Amino acid sequence: MNNHVSVLEIDGKALEHNLNYFKNKLNETTKILAVVKAFGYGSDGVLVADFLKDKVDYFAVAYAHEGIALREANIKTPILVLHPQIATLQDIIDYRLEPNLYNFKIFNAFLELADKVPLMNYPIHIKFNTGLNRLGFWHTDIPKIISELKETNHIKVQSLFSHLAASEDLEEKEFTNQQLNNFAYIAQQFYKHLNYEPMLHILNTSGVVNYAVAQFDMVRVGIGLYGFGNDAEETKQLKNTHNLKSIISQIHLIEPGETVGYNRAFVAKKPSKSATIPVGHADGLSRKLGNGAGYVLVNNQKAKIIGNVCMDMIMVDVTKIDCNEGDEVIIFNHQDMLNNIADTSETIVYETLTSISPRVKKVLKS
Ligand SMILES: *Cc1c(COP(=O)(O)O)cnc(C)c1O
Repeated sequence: MNNHVSVLEIDGKALEHNLNYFKNKLNETTKILAVVKAFGYGSDGVLVADFLKDKVDYFAVAYAHEGIALREANIKTPILVLHPQIATLQDIIDYRLEPNLYNFKIFNAFLELADKVPLMNYPIHIKFNTGLNRLGFWHTDIPKIISELKETNHIKVQSLFSHLAASEDLEEKEFTNQQLNNFAYIAQQFYKHLNYEPMLHILNTSGVVNYAVAQFDMVRVGIGLYGFGNDAEETKQLKNTHNLKSIISQIHLIEPGETVGYNRAFVAKKPSKSATIPVGHADGLSRKLGNGAGYVLVNNQKAKIIGNVCMDMIMVDVTKIDCNEGDEVIIFNHQDMLNNIADTSETIVYETLTSISPRVKKVLKS
């Protein structure tokens, strides 16, 4: 049982609001896949999926064990495993997860398992590389894939998909349109030669925002569900889902010349008051937030982090804040705070969210 006092509250109403925001940008028939990989972007993939299970059509995780966690929580929604490995294919079958087959090595390995069991029309997904050069078959592989598919009824292509390299960047419009055209061509080849039509999908969150015309049959929404759009204007229309709270463990009165924390990094110039908060770099707060760069909210006022961020705690300056030991502290509860933490940590909000460690307790409030 995790009874840590530092708690990440996942806001269910905000998740639902964000889901509806993206639904409203899409045709009524377009399916929604909610991306819950990496513990639901640093929250809790099981809690998020359990909350969304009747509101979306599909879930996606990166690795098989993330999907197994959902199945063990009795989530029955189809689950696409985006980056399966050969070593986990049997688990994928045992838990009725749907693998992305992205090269012949994994395609053949899966087919071999499917033939052995044998499976009947087991749903698989085929990914194409249209320019990201990360995972996926190349369009020249199409004839071989199609001929293999025609010889088996042990697997069935549930979807064909691809991923955009720069969907958030309108300066890359030409490149993105090329990716979309490549994908449409690939889909056409399959539709021409298979006697059924797999679903098609290529858009992530910023793809939905910038290229909704290419929504095909389904879209894969990740960061948007968690409250972040393509730009500040859009993010304002979304609601924050990740709220990290803690409490003040102890307050110290510091005399001028005294120091706070490791390496004596903070030196008091005047009589000061510090508060110690039980959240540190092991909970996901970058050391770059130390020494006045980052802040938290104590009784609605900004309290700068002083000295170095420790593994298990931070000290903040509460000289001018009326507060007591045991008072609530907000590490972040708004996209602006998270963007500020990401900027100060010299990273992007995706990394700030997914850095929230398993030690932090997670609860979903709906
Ligand atoms: C992570 C991921 C997504 C979700 O991307 P967002 O930008 O968070 O919406 C979609 N598709 C694939 C293949 C991914 O790996």
